[in-house]
Amino acid sequence: LTIPQLLKQTVARHGQREAAVFREQGLRWTYQELDRRVDAFAAGLLALGIRAGDRVGIWAPNRAEWILTQFATARIGAILVNINPAYRVTELEYALNKVGCVALVLAPTFKSSDYVGMLRQLAPELDDAAPGKLHAARLPSLRIVIAMGSEPMPGMLGFDEVSEKGSARDRLKLDGITASLSVNDPINIQFTSGTTGAPKGATLTHRNIVNNARFVTGTMRLTEQDRLAIPVPLYHCFGMVMGVMGAVSYGATMIFPGEGFEPVSVLEAVSSERCTALYGVPTMFVAQLEHPRFFEFDLSSLRTGIMAGSPCPIEVMKRVVSDMHMSEVTIAYGMTETSPVSFQSNVDDPLDRRVSTVGRVHPHVEVKLVDETGSTVAVGVPGELCTRGYSVMRGYWNDEELTKQSIDPAGWMHTGDLATIDADGFCNIVGRVKDMLIRGGENVYPREVEEYLYRHPKVEQVQVFGVPDEKYGEEICAWVVLRSGQTATEEELRAFCRGQIAHYKVPRYVRFVAELPMTVTGKAQKFKMRETMIAELG
Ligand code: ATP
Ligand code: MG
Repeated sequence: LTIPQLLKQTVARHGQREAAVFREQGLRWTYQELDRRVDAFAAGLLALGIRAGDRVGIWAPNRAEWILTQFATARIGAILVNINPAYRVTELEYALNKVGCVALVLAPTFKSSDYVGMLRQLAPELDDAAPGKLHAARLPSLRIVIAMGSEPMPGMLGFDEVSEKGSARDRLKLDGITASLSVNDPINIQFTSGTTGAPKGATLTHRNIVNNARFVTGTMRLTEQDRLAIPVPLYHCFGMVMGVMGAVSYGATMIFPGEGFEPVSVLEAVSSERCTALYGVPTMFVAQLEHPRFFEFDLSSLRTGIMAGSPCPIEVMKRVVSDMHMSEVTIAYGMTETSPVSFQSNVDDPLDRRVSTVGRVHPHVEVKLVDETGSTVAVGVPGELCTRGYSVMRGYWNDEELTKQSIDPAGWMHTGDLATIDADGFCNIVGRVKDMLIRGGENVYPREVEEYLYRHPKVEQVQVFGVPDEKYGEEICAWVVLRSGQTATEEELRAFCRGQIAHYKVPRYVRFVAELPMTVTGKAQKFKMRETMIAELG
């Protein structure tokens, strides 16, 4: 199926059921209503001259217009380009030009960010342009700017205005266009999180996305009875594929707690909407569990959900099972480049495996673990995880060099992650290849030290990484966020490690910080911590 075919199928089966609830905007739509709005916006895009293969950027937090744009672009075969809500002027310019966007759909503002203001800095020509006919020196491909919300703005079209623009003829054309699309057409350029550096744009097809979404939520046994809370950003594959496409695969209801992530809004949404499933990266679950009002909320409706995106500490998983009632919670592992998921635990895997591993490989995905020479490693030995199959992206958009570095001629995607797989097929993510450090000749996997430090009662979050050292090559550094109201000393944490983990794994440096440098997707950016430490240590 293509993405629009999948939506039509679900509308036919579950049209009267609730499709989506946007709590901050106060909107609730059935699948029929969602479908009607998608078609209206799609016809409007056609009227504006947008055609299959054209790139349409979206720069916005989790708003209703996001999913309308997602399905409307797919309906006409236009390629949706997700732009990171944290981007600023320079990055926006780079992203729009790199993929040659002809149109941009944006939220006027998000929190303290003035998106329209930033776009104006890049394209002062907007003020005098007729809507849909922009010619800006610094954004040569961009013609059309569509602003969410109802306020009219110079040079831009309003979202609702576009939805009314399509003529009866444009609407009639939609089914024919959808029928002409191929499952192997690229339909999204999704950017990676930017955890290790600049985000990369992965080109994905209908086939990549539709299939992966179905496997992800099928593994959780999602049905039309489920109500899935989605606090993860829509701009990222966790939100747009595992969330939106995953819910639509089974006619489930999507609940969006807010435009951005706020722990209390999520807890409120889960309890008042009686959600049965909840998504999040580990830092989001921690923020909810640690919130002073956590125990005020009735979360007993929860059954399942997914933790994914970065290493999922066992201690946190256990609390998700006991305190959040998510007895059927699963961990998923994946990356934007593989649509995204390749490993996921199953709701009926033994609990100890479900909290400590990323489960077993998804159907129709091949995996192998290799050493530096490319040979497959023995069972239980860490190696670089490589995956192959339907889920691997077409490549990085317009970047053959980078694509070649990641996908080898035999079609294996080299993930850059170190993993072990046991005799039963359960996979453990050891960490990123780049993050493994060698101290005095000993390999140290930061994840292992982090898991140990998470057992300390005062530790809320911890990140371990290497910094250069003259004597040992690298030294171990830990950045710690303490639980609220707690204080601790460096020595206290080191003493906690001594005698419990090998001496060469004990952090030489411990720093207590109020917060960690994070991506919009809630992942700690070790490269930024490392830069800070290197500057501090001289
Ligand atoms: P960038 O590639 O831009 O540096 P990123 O790799 O974080 O950022 P994503 O595609 O969002 O971008 O994330 C994929 C990565 O997230 C994986 O390669 C892996 O390192 C990590 N990851 C995802 N799920 C898990 C998990 N369950 N356990 C451990 N790590 C995970
Ligand atoms: Mg990556």
